[in-house]
Amino acid sequence: MKKKNSEPPPPAAPGLFGDSLPAPAPARKNGLLAFSYSKMSLYEECPLKYKFKYIDKIKEEPKFYFAFGNSIHTALEFLYSVKAPPFPALEELLEAFRLDWNKKSYLEKGYRTPQRADADYQKGLVMLKAYYEQNRAGFKPPFLVEYSTDVEVDGLLVRTISDRIEYLGGGEIEIIDYKTGKDVKRQPSQLYMYQKINELDPRLKEKIAETYGKRVSSVRVRQMQYYHVPTLKPYVFERADDKEIGAFWDRVLGVAENIRGIRFDPTPGEQACAWCDYKSLCPHFFGGHPHPAEQLSSTTENIEALVDRYGRLKERMDELQAQLDEVGGSIARSAKDGAQYAGSQYTARVKKNSKWEFRDREAVIKVLNDFELYQKALTLTLTGISGVLDSADISEDARKKLLEQAVKKTAVDIKIVKKEGLI
Ligand code: SF4
Repeated sequence: MKKKNSEPPPPAAPGLFGDSLPAPAPARKNGLLAFSYSKMSLYEECPLKYKFKYIDKIKEEPKFYFAFGNSIHTALEFLYSVKAPPFPALEELLEAFRLDWNKKSYLEKGYRTPQRADADYQKGLVMLKAYYEQNRAGFKPPFLVEYSTDVEVDGLLVRTISDRIEYLGGGEIEIIDYKTGKDVKRQPSQLYMYQKINELDPRLKEKIAETYGKRVSSVRVRQMQYYHVPTLKPYVFERADDKEIGAFWDRVLGVAENIRGIRFDPTPGEQACAWCDYKSLCPHFFGGHPHPAEQLSSTTENIEALVDRYGRLKERMDELQAQLDEVGGSIARSAKDGAQYAGSQYTARVKKNSKWEFRDREAVIKVLNDFELYQKALTLTLTGISGVLDSADISEDARKKLLEQAVKKTAVDIKIVKKEGLI
């Protein structure tokens, strides 16, 4: 699923506590909350996991099954992106798969070994050949392929991306979703979301008029098809009734309200935590440390996988550090020295101190030597040299020369304490 880019790019930070940057917040566009079926599923699985992924924007580790599924989807998108026959030849379809597959290394795709990646590549070729042979007689240009839309409803901007949509006439459509996992299960929330949003989408009516020359007053989803590519089997689910959609929509609005209310308490669960990449950041998971079993498995991984994993963890740490700096900068700019501020979960005491920073070490040493202040500084540390600059008994000339190398900065110390009774 393509990511929505709803936040403006942050301005460059000039220094440690320079111009502050906005703290991460739920993605919004024109006051609307950016929403989707996958965001809702993740929030319902664990709100804290949602926060790590969508608010803090901490990348998850790559998953090989997503990489595999994405390459199959890309190849099928290529196959169906024709406005009129002829359709691409089988070799062209396989080439589209190969090109997409080779965009990333096996580690970037989330495989532990090149052998596992190659086995899946071969599996993908077999799967696509079988798909082509089974369906080639019925190939016809589809109504829409990889149709992405954002629909405004109830203060939300809901995105759906449909793999394929077929027009059945009379304003009715069928949505087709390719599945590449082991099996196919009915996913009611996805069905409801796609039905609701596509029926509200005004662009679909325009597209029907453009493509088929017919104006329709409304669009109705007759059915949704999950096509299981590994077994070449379609699973068709009929449209949901109004009662089901109504109950589902109440759930959507409840989740949206919680996100707007910044409610991200973790809801640990065996299944959710087992597949969670944020365990090492999660305060409710072994005190913030990885599960011992996971540590054990690390030692048996090959060095390349460990290097890759180390790099990803480092990237996450850098991202978190950058966010910490941004938020700290915002507090530093707004807070008064010595004041205490209380949020709903934490209190912060803020202390501001002025300090000197020196640009050019060699030039500072020269000034100390020229004015025989070396002994006074005792050590060539920031404290030692600052002490010389602030002392009363140095000549004005020496002070002036030292000041030419010095910049006065405000250091801010933020002491955070969690409020009592909160865990
Ligand atoms: S480890 Fe479990 S509780 Fe913590 S964020 Fe992940 S899913 Fe949620």
